[in-house]
Amino acid sequence: MMRIDHIAISHLHGDHYLGLFGLLSTFSLLGRTRALNLYGPPELEALVLAHEKAGESVRGYPLNFKATQTETPELLFEDGSVSLESFPVRHRIPTTGFLLREKPKEPGVKREWIRDWNLSLTEILALKRGEDVDRPDGTTILFSKACHRPPEPRSYAFAADTRYWEKVAEWVQGVSLLYHEATFDAAMKDRAVKTYHSTAVQAARIAAQAKVRQLVIGHVSARYENADALLEEAQEVFPNTVAACDGLVLEVPAAC
Ligand SMILES: [Zn+2]
Repeated sequence: MMRIDHIAISHLHGDHYLGLFGLLSTFSLLGRTRALNLYGPPELEALVLAHEKAGESVRGYPLNFKATQTETPELLFEDGSVSLESFPVRHRIPTTGFLLREKPKEPGVKREWIRDWNLSLTEILALKRGEDVDRPDGTTILFSKACHRPPEPRSYAFAADTRYWEKVAEWVQGVSLLYHEATFDAAMKDRAVKTYHSTAVQAARIAAQAKVRQLVIGHVSARYENADALLEEAQEVFPNTVAACDGLVLEVPAAC
């Protein structure tokens, strides 16, 4: 848990952020001193500070807060290996989805080529840039032969809570894994519209339009004993769908 450095909150309905207060104070109890980055609606910072003030609690680490907005997609964070963006969704109160992307990796030069051809650092760097290398003896080392193609960067999008909105398919186009809320079954489509939620079929439609690799649905209404019927409905539209449950871990395999 202490490895968490970034927390992104989509909106200020209790089922999406009330656990944050406990987590932030547990970090202090566990002796955290490293800064924590928190992204969420503008009002979230004041809520956290008011909670700490009322309890006269002293946080042992800095909190870097960045307010999200619901106008356009926005880059929230990036480093050498990943980027995190928010994107607007349509819910009863201001809400954003989040999109985590790996950065493209450089191609790797095959070890046996480095050894057998005694490649210099300059030559290795040229190959990593995708260039062929002409050697003084007239031979050419081809990038296509000497290098491994790097795996496609993976990506994960989180779209909840939201009513069916085709724009979401645009924001999350081609992601490896999409989490999309699916609160209701198809028969409750009108209720979904009224309450700014989605049906399982609508979640699957977004996944199909966005050509994602896999869909995971969740936020299933408590009126259903389990997610079986919703999962079936979604799979009819987008077969590679799974239903979320507490503790579920999904691997996102590298695509070739
Ligand atoms: Zn909500």
